[in-house]
Amino acid sequence: MAKFEYAPAPESRAIVDLKPSYGLFINGEFTDSQGGTAFKSISPSTEEVLAEVTSASEADVDRAVAAARRAFNGAWGRMSGADRGKYLYRIARILQERSREFAVLESLDNGKPIKESRDVDVPLAAAHFFYHAGWADKLDHASLGRNPRPHGVVGQVIPWNFPLLMLSWKIAPALATGNTVVIKPAETTPLTALLFAEVLQQADLPPGVVNIVTGAGTTGQAIVDHPDVDKLAFTGSTGVGKMIARSIAGTRKKATLELGGKAANILFDDAPIDQAVEGIVNGIFFNQGHVCCAGSRLLVQESIADEVDQRLKRRLATLRVGDPLDKNTDVGAINSRAQLERITELTAVGEAEGATRWEAECELPAKGFWFRPTVFTGVSQTHRIAQEEIFGPVLSVLTFRTPHEAVAKANNTPYGLSAGVWTEKGSRILWMADQLKAGVVWANTFNKFDPTSPFGGYKESGYGREGGRHGLAAYVTTEGHR
Ligand code: NDP
Repeated sequence: MAKFEYAPAPESRAIVDLKPSYGLFINGEFTDSQGGTAFKSISPSTEEVLAEVTSASEADVDRAVAAARRAFNGAWGRMSGADRGKYLYRIARILQERSREFAVLESLDNGKPIKESRDVDVPLAAAHFFYHAGWADKLDHASLGRNPRPHGVVGQVIPWNFPLLMLSWKIAPALATGNTVVIKPAETTPLTALLFAEVLQQADLPPGVVNIVTGAGTTGQAIVDHPDVDKLAFTGSTGVGKMIARSIAGTRKKATLELGGKAANILFDDAPIDQAVEGIVNGIFFNQGHVCCAGSRLLVQESIADEVDQRLKRRLATLRVGDPLDKNTDVGAINSRAQLERITELTAVGEAEGATRWEAECELPAKGFWFRPTVFTGVSQTHRIAQEEIFGPVLSVLTFRTPHEAVAKANNTPYGLSAGVWTEKGSRILWMADQLKAGVVWANTFNKFDPTSPFGGYKESGYGREGGRHGLAAYVTTEGHR
């Protein structure tokens, strides 16, 4: 098939005004670290240094928690829900006003295509603040239990795949329910969180209500271990989630953990195949596959496996991989060298274990971290590429004959975050959704997110829900549940 050539359509980065270095955002202002070091945030698509960022020390985390506690005991703790809501609305509107700036910065720092940061991450981030603003004065009517009250100081640690969006998932419900926050963005993607600190200043949020401490795992650990943190919210790998669960065991701290996934995208022979192929592509190649709920395992009914294979590969050959700031780009850069190495290693294991590897033909830029869209066929359930989270643009294809076999294979994983079902038959969708051990089941679509809809996992995908009324529940305590 002839491939269209596209002229470059780069988004200008002039809108982003990066400072050479950033301090920590504590008590409403940027401050220098006490004893912390500095590290560089680089663009994964060019390896260019974007800015120098502070690695917060234990003393810095302690200052941030103290500021959050003062704010909780002070004006914020006494504020009415209606007034808290006004701040959330203000933050949402400023995010919309500055959306282009956030989208460009996110693509620079994370490597994701501008059309995703512009059309998904930033609008959804604003939507989370709008949605939770509406709840702030209605918590008594949200069926959360009697007299819902905030926990106090909330510690939050987020990953690098959706930096601004994960920050919004965490901060918006915490503030709507009257908590105060200490949050750590991921080491490789701190810049939109630091820009968000400017939004908080612009919104006149009282000092200490949100504190942003940058750093690596040790900074995250200092938040987790701090004795004056009442609740933790974490998104990231199952390994670190388990460490957090262990370190808070026996304490009074509450936690929600949103961890990894190995979702099955299940395609029956009566599904509209072209539509399903789009869903498969969106399921695993959206955001370079750096998505916890990515449809990384395609389970396809045996009778249509060859046809799906051909149509899928034909579609993948048209994906444009390259400059994240180019508006034509479909697949951007891998977020870090370490992640690229992890993907490279696991895909080599896939070949060694006997699966058949196919890669989209495309030219990769000379600098930066890149990985071609890859499909493995002939995958069996025991292969590591069918069991472990690759967290990259890699699809493992398995086949099935009956709905029962599809369910058994789909559930045969330590994870349980999401799943997709493609079929024209409504009763089968309902039966499958009932059988699948997954927090979210999409029917004839994939990777759809909305702040009103709870999101979270079973088994090693973690516990607790984010979004919707269920998400609010994690941020309050009610009478009889102290
Ligand atoms: P991590 O779980 O290490 O990172 C998530 C966040 O936790 C980051 O902010 C990280 O900081 C922080 N962190 C790391 N160690 C600790 C600790 N001991 N205590 C508290 N916080 C900590 O994920 P990685 O970035 O290492 O990615 C590894 C794998 O995890 C990926 O290949 C992927 O499979 C999976 N992953 C899953 C995600 C999901 O959404 N389910 C998101 C990200 C990764 P820092 O950034 O400095 O390391």
